Amino acid sequence: MTPSPGAVRYQETLAGCAVDLSDNTNLWGPPPSVATTIASCLAASRYPSAYSDNLKRSIAGYVGLDESMVVTGCGSDDVLDSTIRAFRKAGNVMAEMDPTFSMMKVFASVSGLEVVSIVPGPGIVADFAATEASIIYLCSPNNPTGSVLSLEIIEAIVARAKGVVIVDEAYIEFGGQSSVELLASYDNLIVTRTMSKAFGLAGFRVGYGLGNARLIASVESARGPYKVSQLSEEVSVRVLDNDLKWVAESVDEAIALRRTFSEQLTSVGYPPLDSAANFVLVPVSDAASVESRMRLRGVAVRRFDGLSGIGDAVRISIGPREMMNVCFDAFREAVS
Ligand SMILES: *Cc1c(COP(=O)(O)O)cnc(C)c1O
Repeated sequence: MTPSPGAVRYQETLAGCAVDLSDNTNLWGPPPSVATTIASCLAASRYPSAYSDNLKRSIAGYVGLDESMVVTGCGSDDVLDSTIRAFRKAGNVMAEMDPTFSMMKVFASVSGLEVVSIVPGPGIVADFAATEASIIYLCSPNNPTGSVLSLEIIEAIVARAKGVVIVDEAYIEFGGQSSVELLASYDNLIVTRTMSKAFGLAGFRVGYGLGNARLIASVESARGPYKVSQLSEEVSVRVLDNDLKWVAESVDEAIALRRTFSEQLTSVGYPPLDSAANFVLVPVSDAASVESRMRLRGVAVRRFDGLSGIGDAVRISIGPREMMNVCFDAFREAVS
């Protein structure tokens, strides 16, 4: 699959690097409908719909749920933040895995919640139940590890939770089992997803949450109106309606390259963690040095210092083959 003209490799990237593998976005570029939609989107002097009704309809069709079970937001970050604001209880805690997506700590502390971190182990279900948290945040596949929680474990955590459980599925298109099927049985569960990763639309800032209609209505009132711009809504609708084949092809290619790249890393003594996402986490002895030495060779990766149970590591997004080849050479030199 040839990268589209908007692919990140042809742009000045945020990291200022020729090959930016630091943020897990779709490195094949945006899907084909983006360019045609922008050209035809000329009604921008008017407000968009308050709660993105057209987008909800397309998402509902895509996931196979009723529209009343869908809330949209300015990125899934906005849906996660709105969920916390809807269900926080003063003086209570949010419980999450360690390590996990770092933004959640920010949202929780801005909302006055204390964060309890749980290193996943055999007692994970009891550990989460014991927190009596008003919000439990799970991420599967997890960022930055790429690991998945089984549906049995997720269901057991949801069944015993005192409050609301969020399952962040930002990377579900790349692997793992979706928790959406649990929504029929539990009214304290919200599954969040994004158009930023597999769908190649990170710059448009569109995400969504799925759950029981009453729970979704609470999240939507915490979210408030007009969070998704007209252009972002229109682009997302067109991509969901027209470009699923393009998305599936770039996902398949990322999964195949994840395997090849992991084998390459293993062959030089740096096996990454098993990943179900579009990135791999590679334990190294000195992440700061690997990051800066790769950057000198024009490759940006994300560095993590002293992760629980893992230690130092670099997280590398999976992009088109040529990018991974440049990255592999830079990595090998950086650790030598
Ligand atoms: C990238 C990411 C998000 C944020 O997605 P947006 O929809 O762009 O806000 C949410 N959760 C996880 C785990 C992510 O890695």
